[in-house]
Amino acid sequence: MDPCIVHPGAPAVGRCQICRQPVCGGCHVLISNRVFCRSHGAKGYKMQQKMAL
Ligand SMILES: [Zn+2]
Ligand SMILES: [Zn+2]
Repeated sequence: MDPCIVHPGAPAVGRCQICRQPVCGGCHVLISNRVFCRSHGAKGYKMQQKMAL
């Protein structure tokens, strides 16, 4: 697994569903079992709220 894009010393736990960047456990955003980076976490959260409505 590649290191986190934000923290080069930390192993990534997954990739952002939008930009495909590797993100570590400290800075990933998990929404409905999907991993997002910090900058796309808010976007993913809105997407999920739209689906829930
Ligand atoms: Zn992203
Ligand atoms: Zn990180």
